[in-house]
Amino acid sequence: MERLTRRAAAASLLLTLLLGMLYYITQSIRVESLEEVTKIPADGRSDTHSRVSDVRLTSPDHLQYKQPSVVHGRTDVVSVTPWLAPVVWEGTFNPVLIDSIYKPQNVSVAVTVFAVGKYIMFLKSFLETMEQYFFVGFNVHVYVFTDQPKDVPEVRVAAGRQLTVRLVPSSKRWQEISARRMELIQVLIEETLHHHDYIFCLDVDALFHGRWGAESLGGLVAVLHPGYYKDGRSRLPFERRPQSRAYMAPEDGDFYYCGGAFGGSLQEVHLLTKTCRYNFEADAREGIEAAWQEESHLNRYMWIHKPSKVLSPEYLWQDFARRNPEIRIIRFSGIVKNYADIRPNV
Ligand code: UDP
Ligand code: MN
Repeated sequence: MERLTRRAAAASLLLTLLLGMLYYITQSIRVESLEEVTKIPADGRSDTHSRVSDVRLTSPDHLQYKQPSVVHGRTDVVSVTPWLAPVVWEGTFNPVLIDSIYKPQNVSVAVTVFAVGKYIMFLKSFLETMEQYFFVGFNVHVYVFTDQPKDVPEVRVAAGRQLTVRLVPSSKRWQEISARRMELIQVLIEETLHHHDYIFCLDVDALFHGRWGAESLGGLVAVLHPGYYKDGRSRLPFERRPQSRAYMAPEDGDFYYCGGAFGGSLQEVHLLTKTCRYNFEADAREGIEAAWQEESHLNRYMWIHKPSKVLSPEYLWQDFARRNPEIRIIRFSGIVKNYADIRPNV
């Protein structure tokens, strides 16, 4: 009888052990498959150090501004996502209050802009309007990536603002120029990590028309694409082939974000660019290029890693589009261009 009990005890111990092992194995498979989906390089999010804080929002005493209300405000647009990130629209923030919070932090904002091949012709007016509207009164360092450093225009900049030119090779394919931005931004961040707090990565074929300021700062910042912000999921131009690492299933996706403007803290944008570059290159090795190159990979990334701030299409409109009533101000807008004239390939 005693032998039988001992046997039963041994058997149950063995069973528990087996179950434990089984649990461990299934858990590690789960984690692996999650990594497969998100494609985060092994050394992702290790560095959470940041020089500034967007958690401590200190405002000066006695600052005069209009009393805020929680029952009156914009009702024609949604100003918060389901994961409680602000969606920034005109009328949802007070620029005076925002500046009084962020100016004393002495933040440094880096900007990347690429002007390769014929796109160099867009650079002058981009830089001139940026000087008028983008983070006026803040420290701004613009990094111009070009294959024609001699043709970078001289633009007078205010104190605290500077421009650095970085040489990049040209390419016969616009898709490659556009997509390689991820790699070059990743490398830039690795070299300048401790010089700046935030970074914005912008298309050159656009002009500033209104304030783009500290209201746009956040850990991971995405801009709603002007062409799709009212559309249902099935109309969003995500990559739909499961073979691509940018794949989005029909039931996936919050919003469709722009590849022409995104940003955030240096740490977050570093991880974003590194991941998108890795996935773009891994796709290329398997002979697949996502529908909208790096924009498709960015959209996949932002689906998994939700942006902590979402900028309305005021922050990247398109000149050719009809202005909708909810767009009270256009801050930055893509100019109409003849693709056949300016791109190296069609
Ligand atoms: N770009 C460039 N040279 C090229 C093609 C693209 O410098 O020949 C850069 C430029 O900064 C441009 C960005 O890549 O703004 C994205 O390309 P494009 O603006 O043509 O894309 P779209 O906004 O039309 O989707
Ligand atoms: Mn563009």
